[in-house]
Amino acid sequence: MGFEIKRRKTRTCMVGDRPVGGDHLVAVQTMTKTKTHDVEGTLAQIRGAQDRGVDIIRLACPDEKSADALPAIIEGSRVPIIADIHFAPGLALKALEAGVHCVRINPGNIKLALVQKIVALANDKGAAIRIGVNSGSIMPRKGLEVKTDMELEMADLMVDTAVQWCEQFDNWGFHNFKVSLKSSDVMTTVYTNREFAKKTDVPLHLGVTEAGMLQASTVKSSIGLGTLLQDGIGDTIRVSITGDPMDEVDVGYEILSALRLRKKNVEIVACPSCGRDEVDGGVETLARQVEERLRDYTGNITVSVLGCIVNGPGEAAEADLGIAGAKDAGYLFKGEHILRRVPNEKLVDEMMIELYKMEKERAAQQPETAGA
Ligand code: SF4
Repeated sequence: MGFEIKRRKTRTCMVGDRPVGGDHLVAVQTMTKTKTHDVEGTLAQIRGAQDRGVDIIRLACPDEKSADALPAIIEGSRVPIIADIHFAPGLALKALEAGVHCVRINPGNIKLALVQKIVALANDKGAAIRIGVNSGSIMPRKGLEVKTDMELEMADLMVDTAVQWCEQFDNWGFHNFKVSLKSSDVMTTVYTNREFAKKTDVPLHLGVTEAGMLQASTVKSSIGLGTLLQDGIGDTIRVSITGDPMDEVDVGYEILSALRLRKKNVEIVACPSCGRDEVDGGVETLARQVEERLRDYTGNITVSVLGCIVNGPGEAAEADLGIAGAKDAGYLFKGEHILRRVPNEKLVDEMMIELYKMEKERAAQQPETAGA
């Protein structure tokens, strides 16, 4: 037995054809950053994210013209669409009529009768609802003086609010929902989700809001989401980055792959480089070339990229293929075996040749395996 994360038992929420929770793989989400009424631009981003392996896409629906664009976007997307309407009940109804697979609402900001109307329509349409509770929309209770107490008090209030909404939705006979408890603070995110997870079986969407640009967000999300996921908590995730949604998908997969919750089809294991690095321009240049060449590769492969041969055979052993830099001509590995030395400028081309050879070998073995 190796290391294995024991996932929290939850009910399953269906977002279109994508199950969230239960025993299903943790879903990776991103959010489009185009104006939603720009159908072509939005679909271009959706297709880019689809190519990166995204499971579910959320888009903002802040106004009528965004809601009007939804049918064409849903039609053009292979993955389920969530419309984020925050606190505009009319837009939630319109988005559901348009056929979105889920609406994200913050029910605390909507009149109860209208929340009930949204829930009823979601039920009719077979759509899901994400109940969003954000620290920013929870008001601190009066009479609090000590900051740390206030933090805890607010965090508990977020949890209580979310639990109460779950009970309300269940009482209305609607069960196809999930919850997000979000904060820009990592500690609050971890605390609230842990507490919520103790109290219900409702699937959780994890994210740290306003996490910042690529580097800051990667750190905050890896700590916040990673801590929870390692506890078995979290059924769908979004890494919020001030930047490219493709990075959100890539970082999401990196987090899940580090915890062995999802496997990326292409894994590049690159050394960090040091004074022994003999690759022209450094190992980072070589790793980027490999990444670029494998961007559209749909098979499964692990490639190790090393700056020098010093630990080559050992470190390449766990990869399918490896390349290690050396003066003028680097080494090409298959598993722990050195295949040959190759002039540096041809290393990546030769690696690709070996990759396709490997594919042929695997394909040739398949009929025997099937018949065995
Ligand atoms: S593989 Fe070589 S270049 Fe890369 S970190 Fe190790 S010793 Fe340094």
